[in-house]
Amino acid sequence: MTLQNSDYKSPWKRFAVNISMVILLFISSLFTGIYLNHQKTIEKELTSRAQALFNSLVIARKWNALHGGVYVEKVPGMQSNPYLENPDITASNGKTYTKKNPALMTREISEIADREGAFQFHITSLKPLNPNNIPDPFELQALLSFSQGKTEAIGKEKIGEATYYRYMAPLFVEKPCLTCHAGQGYQLGDVRGGISVRFNINDMMRAQMLHRLLLGLLFTGTLISFMGIVHRLVGALKRKLVAAENLIREMTITDDLTKLKNRRFLHDRLKEELERTTRYRHPLACIFFDADHFKMVNDSYGHEAGDAVLKTISATAQEQCRQTDTLGRYGGEEFLMLLPETNLEQACALAERLRQAIEGQVSIADQHHIRITATFGVACYSPETTADQPSLSDFIKQADTAMLEAKKAGRNRVGIAS
Ligand code: GH3
Ligand code: MG
Ligand code: MG
Repeated sequence: MTLQNSDYKSPWKRFAVNISMVILLFISSLFTGIYLNHQKTIEKELTSRAQALFNSLVIARKWNALHGGVYVEKVPGMQSNPYLENPDITASNGKTYTKKNPALMTREISEIADREGAFQFHITSLKPLNPNNIPDPFELQALLSFSQGKTEAIGKEKIGEATYYRYMAPLFVEKPCLTCHAGQGYQLGDVRGGISVRFNINDMMRAQMLHRLLLGLLFTGTLISFMGIVHRLVGALKRKLVAAENLIREMTITDDLTKLKNRRFLHDRLKEELERTTRYRHPLACIFFDADHFKMVNDSYGHEAGDAVLKTISATAQEQCRQTDTLGRYGGEEFLMLLPETNLEQACALAERLRQAIEGQVSIADQHHIRITATFGVACYSPETTADQPSLSDFIKQADTAMLEAKKAGRNRVGIAS
């Protein structure tokens, strides 16, 4: 059985698809990894930004609390803290000073930061004294999680076109806090509330989108390049394999010395031709020929000279062949020619021409000019005159027997199968 080129199509396609899938998987994983890593880095960056803001405020509050609140000169329009018992004092110089406790300080810093568009702080708790400090849904969720032991809450919030990063961490009751908050039943170390930080991350989101877009383009470009390379490599590999397979196929049906078709091919071909002859009712002839006294050539001039003579006979016979004829080396110095659509008369004429051509040829080997003759046997199968299709071996035997008869009759002649 021989493989046709078309047999390769589907396995190659499957091979190319499988390789492509592996590459797709590899590139997808690579780019997903890059994307996720980038996301993680951004999230980390945002969180540490929020933590830094939170921590600096907590330190400022601690400083304030350590001093039991800080007095500032009460200028016209400045409100006193309504949640403190005696927020205002008048100094000996006659000026009035009002107390800014940590909560008020936090709110005022937040207002300044908000006005400047930088960030917002919000101090809040589950039991706020000031209604301004009532938690929003994110903060409420965070405060509830703090009471269950969580130490941070993170989120994102979209307000109109703007996206905000939300961060919140708890505030624990420390000694200075109790000055104001002891009345609410807090104990040292309790979660008293928390401070949430909110800042606009539109720029970051835009940069992230751009990164996603670039990554997408890069992914597509890489994928197309890789697929192109795979396509070319698979194509080249396929061409090489098909060429190698063709070469192997050719080698299995070719005689090494004469480059004519070998016995295996002759048998296959003859089987087909016999069938076709029966079906289309056209005659089929074959010529079996054998070099005369060939052993003497070997004995006289050596085996290599014998090889050269076999090659010359092959070339001479090939010249007499039509395109549709098949010439092959049947064995040692025996040849077989299959002649489709050829009757006995035409085959005998061809055999005679071939006999004369071989008789006239000179093989040159090792400076020897070697002349040789050959004996021919011709057989013909014509469905018009023969009832049964001969078997392959019978048909060859007919030509072979005719050739042997001609040998007996003196060689260098054409014998015809009876
Ligand atoms: P006849 O006329 O009866 O056919 O005599 P012959 O000598 O040609 O026949 P025989 O069968 O006695 O000898 C055939 C010789 O062909 C013997 C063998 O060594 C030689 N031979 C077969 N194959 C090759 C080959 O490939 N190369 C060479 N150099 N000799 C070969
Ligand atoms: Mg022989
Ligand atoms: Mg011979």
